[in-house]
Parts: sequence; C-alpha cells; structure tokens
Amino acid sequence: MHRSDLPGAGYIGRFAPSPTGPLHAGSLVAALASWLDARAYGGKWLVRIEDVDLPRCVPGADRVILEQLEACGLVPDDLPVWQSRRDELYADALQHLLAADHVYACACSRREISLAAQSEGQELTRHAELVYPGTCRNGLKGKAARAMRVRTLNAKGHDVQIEWTDRRLGAQRQNLARAVGDFVLHRADGLWAYQMAVVVDDALQGVSHVVRGEDLSDNTPRQIHLQRLLGLPTPVYLHTPLVLGANGEKLSKQNGATPLNLRDCLAALRTAGVSLGIATEASDLNSWLTQAIVQWREKWALPVA
Ligand SMILES: [Zn+2]
Repeated sequence: MHRSDLPGAGYIGRFAPSPTGPLHAGSLVAALASWLDARAYGGKWLVRIEDVDLPRCVPGADRVILEQLEACGLVPDDLPVWQSRRDELYADALQHLLAADHVYACACSRREISLAAQSEGQELTRHAELVYPGTCRNGLKGKAARAMRVRTLNAKGHDVQIEWTDRRLGAQRQNLARAVGDFVLHRADGLWAYQMAVVVDDALQGVSHVVRGEDLSDNTPRQIHLQRLLGLPTPVYLHTPLVLGANGEKLSKQNGATPLNLRDCLAALRTAGVSLGIATEASDLNSWLTQAIVQWREKWALPVA
C-alpha cells in the first residue's frame, strides 16, 4: 500500500477544548496529537470550543486558547465553533431520540439515585459515577421530569454491548447497561450533557478521526451508542497516553499545571512531543512541526479501512 492510498482524503479531525482556563502542558498534548494526525494524513483540522457547561467556563479563556494554538503554529482549517451556540442542533437530536423511544424523562434527584443505587449494593467510588438504577424507565409515577436519559437496554430488554477498536488501545468492549446505565443527555439544570453535544457536533462537522487523551476513552462507548441510535457514522478513535503530573494524577489546572509560556512555544511543543514519543532537534517552530509530522506518521499509521 502506498502513502497516497491511505484514507486521508475524507479525513476531518478536531481539537475540542473546554474553556475552563488557558491551555496547559496536558491540553497542548491533546491539541498537538490531533493536529499531527490530521496533518500526517492530509486531513482537515478543526477546533471546537466545548463550552456546553457554561457555569464551569471562564470568560475569555476561549480566546486565550485560540491565541495559544496559533502561537504554537496549530491553526484550524475552518472557523471554530462554540457549543453554547448550538442548542437547537442538540434539541433536534433529542427529539429524534424521543420519537423513537430511545430516551425518557427522569425525576430522580442525585440523592434518590444514590440511595437507590446503594440499596442495590453499588458502592460510591471517587471517580466513577453511580450506575443509574432505572427508576424512571417505565414512567415518572406523577413526579416532575428533571433530566432526559437514554436507554442502555435494547428493545428486547438486553444490555447494550459496545465493541470498538482504538488505534492505540486495540479491541475494546463495554457492557453499557452495567458499566454506566441509562445516562443523562439533557441535565436537570437545563444544560446539555457532554456526550450529547460531542456526538451531534462530531457528526455535523464530519469528523472522521478523533484523537484525544486516554482519560476520555471511557466516554467512547456512550458516544458510539448515541451515534448508532441517531444513525450517525462512528469515527476512528485514537486515545493518546495521559500526561501525568508529579502527583501521578492527570495534569490539569486543578493540580498545578501552569499555563503555557507563549514566549517559548517551541519548548512547550518539545515537552508535549516527548509524551507522544516525538523528539526532533529542529531549532525553529515550523521545522519542528514539519519533522514531528513525519515522526507521527511513522508511529501512528492509520488503520486500513
Ligand atoms: Zn429517575
């Protein structure tokens, strides 16, 4: 197979930061990885501002992120989109799912879910959310609707099982009903859930390849489930290794990751490159990026379609 035969023609990739603060070392790795993959395979690279959870966003952080990307030579091929402006698109998708009875209204408070789940013997863990016990699956029994949930049991009442292949992690599988349960698409506070916005936007933007950090790989089966229910294609996924802070936890603003120093983007890119297995001696930004594309292609071949 020749390079020119690689399925790059229809390639659309994206970087989708939440504007909760400026880019830091960890988020630059995600940006760089998705950019390199798109460039390595002749694709388009898009930026999407994931500000669907507006209360968590920091005003102006979106602009800062776009400036930081540009300073590092990572320039999107199209105008960025903001999820907070795409309400109607998510509402449309929800209507489709409602009409097909794939979603239902849930009246449970967090406390009620917690009590019901604990009475089933589930234990609260720090990172995992409780599996929704299905209380409202067959109706609200007169209570007021709070959130909308999608079913993870199929029409025959069997658990939905999702299998997919990640370019780095290989064959993956999850029993969605047992691992997650019927999950929220529209929240009690009126905001759209991350899963809903991502699936709708990836499809509408024609995203064919998703390259993102491994911390998000646990979301993939939920997103594939929604794609299937909405009749949307499933992108090719590559989840890159996590960048860990000194305390061994994912690098984030909360555990002391400092914002990028724009006066030395090359140094920041070098550091980001190390966690992706990329090391070049180039002494200017453009040469570094060009050489990194070559190394990326050698390291992360696209699966043959
Ligand atoms: Zn409920």
